[in-house]
Order: sequence, then C-alpha cells, then structure tokens
Amino acid sequence: MPTLFDPSIAHKRLEKFWQLPASFGMERNAYHNYLNEIVSDRYTLINGLQMLRDELQFAAASPTDIHACGADLSLPSVVTTLAYTNCGDRIHQGEATKRYRDVVASRFATLSEIGELKLEAFFPAGGGTDNGAMLAHVTVAHQIDSALRRRLYEGNPQSMVLVGIDLKTHVGRLKEDGQCIYGQTRESPWREPRAACGAIADSLTNFHPHNLIHRRIRDDLGEKNFQYLSTQKIYTDDGIDITMAVAAAIVAIRGIRNTAMALTQEMDERGLAHLTASTTVNRPSRDDLVIYLARATVFQGRVCIQSLGSKAELYSGKLVEYAGEQRLQLIYKGQDSDQLPIEEIAYQVQTSEL
Ligand SMILES: [Zn+2]
Repeated sequence: MPTLFDPSIAHKRLEKFWQLPASFGMERNAYHNYLNEIVSDRYTLINGLQMLRDELQFAAASPTDIHACGADLSLPSVVTTLAYTNCGDRIHQGEATKRYRDVVASRFATLSEIGELKLEAFFPAGGGTDNGAMLAHVTVAHQIDSALRRRLYEGNPQSMVLVGIDLKTHVGRLKEDGQCIYGQTRESPWREPRAACGAIADSLTNFHPHNLIHRRIRDDLGEKNFQYLSTQKIYTDDGIDITMAVAAAIVAIRGIRNTAMALTQEMDERGLAHLTASTTVNRPSRDDLVIYLARATVFQGRVCIQSLGSKAELYSGKLVEYAGEQRLQLIYKGQDSDQLPIEEIAYQVQTSEL
C-alpha cells in the first residue's frame, strides 16, 4: 500500500527558499555565483532529508556485499539528480566549467559506482536548451526507476525527488583600447577578435531560414526580440553596446521557462525541481565571469519564476566598480535586480502510478 505524500515540510522549505535573497544581472566570479546562489538555494530545498545520490545507496537488492551500502529508506529522504547546459563553443575556460563541477555538480549530481559524477550535460549551439521538453524528459526519466521509486515512496511519507537543472548561455567580453566590447572575445591574446556567442550573433546578423540552429535561436528569442536585436542596439548609460549580452540572457531566460513548464508534465506529486539560468562571460586569458539571470521551482501544482525579463527593448545596463574592476549590471524595466518579482503559474499535478 503506497504511503500518501506529506508535503507540509517540503512547502516550508520552499517558503524559506523564496525568502532567500538573490542578486541578478551582474557579472560576478563563477565561484560566487555557484556557491552563494545555486548551492545555497538548492540545499535549502532539501535541508533535513537524507540525501541519496550515490548508486551504492540504491543497491538494496545486490547479491554481493554491496547491498550493505543500501540506504535506509524508512528515513525521510531525497534522491537528487543534476542536468546542465551551455553552448558547445570551445571558448569556455577556467572557472565557469571546472568550478561548476567542483562547486555544484560534486554536491548534487549522481555518483557512479566507480566514483564519477553522472550529470545530464547538453551543449546545444547557442546554449540554453535545444528543447525544454526533451531536457525535462530525459533528466527525470534517468533519475530513478520504478522499483526504486516505489521503495522510496513507500519508505517514508516525506520522501521525495529533487531535479536540479542549470541552463547557461554565453557572451564574449573584450577590452580594446580601454573600451569594453560585448559579443566578442579572442581565443588567446595574440588571436583576432571573433564573435561569442557565435551561434547567437550569426543568427541575428546572417539569418538563413534553412539553418536549423538559426531557426531555433530565433524561436527561443521570440519574433519581436529577434527583430529588435537584429536591427537595434542596446547601450549602457556610458555607451557600451550590450546587445549580445541581452540576447544571450534572453535565450537562457526563455529556456528556463520552457523547461520549467515541461517539468510539470514529467514529475509526480513528490517531484520538486529547482532551475537556474545564467550567462557565462568569456574573457581572453582570464577566468570566465557569470551573470545570474533567473531561478525557478516546480512543485505541487505551482511553478514559480524569478528572473530578469524576456523583452529585449526593456533592458538597460550600467558598468559598476566591483572588486577593482568594471562589471556589467543588466537592468530590466529599471527594476532593482536584487528584488525582482516572483511570477507564479498553476499546473495540474501528475499523480504517481505506484
Ligand atoms: Zn556560443
């Protein structure tokens, strides 16, 4: 007889999560973003639960000694899984890639029996997601199988699953003759500037209707944004062209929304998803910076999204002094980027078939 889910404590954790401050739109070092935004938020959602992500913890039925590693599922428990995306461009370097594994994935991704992190990793040209529905589907489908789900759900009325999804896009940043340029970077200091994200820039400046990636990015941006971003420029107060940074931000923000909505069709009443969106800023010979753009949760009939917006013409920006250098702060509708509104969307919860 399956135990009925008791979501009361999970709701309290979620309430606590949404009271945690978050700072959006500013170039920060990757470590700061991963630890102070993604990891701290994600742990808040599962605080107090026995965390299960090592394949050995699921080994109850093994004929070998390994069955002794199997977790006690009568305790309130959570099974976690992790998916992330970024553009497949080779330009990412330093903190943005390696740090993500060290700081975020090492804590929430499944650990294989030989000790490797098993992340769902997708690298679509242009970043974000090729298809939010497919990303949501495979991430949830790979997390646990039905026998394990049954044991988990029957073990304790509070036990649940957590799906973590971190979406990324990227934009280059160059300093030439004292002037900051967004949308370009160099492979190395002795190479010439080139576009980054090349896929987004090419879609906006050289659109070919037969090119599937161009079409996908145009669709991700939305037609109005595509028209705007391919014909107009967005400048900071002091005249820095940030059009490509805004385009990269919108691709990630549209991606988080599509993926969050798709998760409503994949998860059951015990499924909780935490999604983030950010843009990696590529600089030659230096660690990449990261701009945090959005966070979202999906749980028990409610999708909540807090993000910079998705209309290109409402973006502005400024360069601010931070850590001894100039950092970009993206602004949407003139709002305080540390106090962005939370949007709520209701959905019908799929009931588990156990
Ligand atoms: Zn790219």
